[in-house]
Amino acid sequence: GVRFRGVTKAFGANVVLRDLDLDVAPAERVVVIGPSGSGKTTILRTTMTLERPDSGTIEIGGRHLYHEESDGRLRPAREKHIREVRSDVGMVFQHFNLFPHLTALENVMLAPMKVHGKSREEARDRGMYLLDTVGLAHAANQTPGQLSGGQKQRVAIARSCACEPKVMLFDEVTSALDPELVGEVLSVLRDIAALGTTTMLLVTHEMGFASEIADRVLMFDDGQVIEQGPPDQVLGDPRHERTKAFLGAVR
Ligand code: ATP
Repeated sequence: GVRFRGVTKAFGANVVLRDLDLDVAPAERVVVIGPSGSGKTTILRTTMTLERPDSGTIEIGGRHLYHEESDGRLRPAREKHIREVRSDVGMVFQHFNLFPHLTALENVMLAPMKVHGKSREEARDRGMYLLDTVGLAHAANQTPGQLSGGQKQRVAIARSCACEPKVMLFDEVTSALDPELVGEVLSVLRDIAALGTTTMLLVTHEMGFASEIADRVLMFDDGQVIEQGPPDQVLGDPRHERTKAFLGAVR
């Protein structure tokens, strides 16, 4: 699981995470909703250690990413430790971020070989299995430039699964796609959710999908979770005025 305690993160004067507490239980599926620019991506990026918080603690699978010193400053854990913790986490971005000069299969094989020291054969077998799972075995030897947006995103999801992460972070993975390509990507996410083994933290504007997949929905605004609960309640019968206004605007 993932645990944030008192996490604060500012970019200059812009306080994006404000003393944030967040718990995602192992195998739980949590969807984060909230206005544009409210800091949803920053939650995922700090979990992935792509951003360092100004204060507070973050644990993944019970292991700390930072130590708080007596003066309140954060010191990152040793680099080897951070790498170990991070290898339990996979992230899929809005804009795929595939390596353009590598084939779909090579994209999926890269981290298992480079980070986990798997043999080429092992990485290829697993890579082909994952591409098959996302319906793209036939595209294994194509480069991203030859694929549609939906196909690219499915390769990116296969790639993030390659190291068997315990925690997967999804940042608006359908928002850069043409509407007719959204379904194929959501269907892959549904398959991952159906396995029931992966902790999933998703930022999405697809409210229908959120209510179908989420164990819990968090409404995030002004650096904090202002409302949370089962999707029926938060999306169907929100209590907070700002949640009501937000849902009214996105629907
Ligand atoms: P969206 O739904 O539009 O993707 P978001 O809720 O994911 O928005 P973030 O991307 O987390 O929001 O950004 C939150 C705020 O932090 C924004 O005001 C953004 O401009 C700012 N921000 C994010 N990253 C940086 C950075 N590296 N440097 C400076 N400001 C940043």
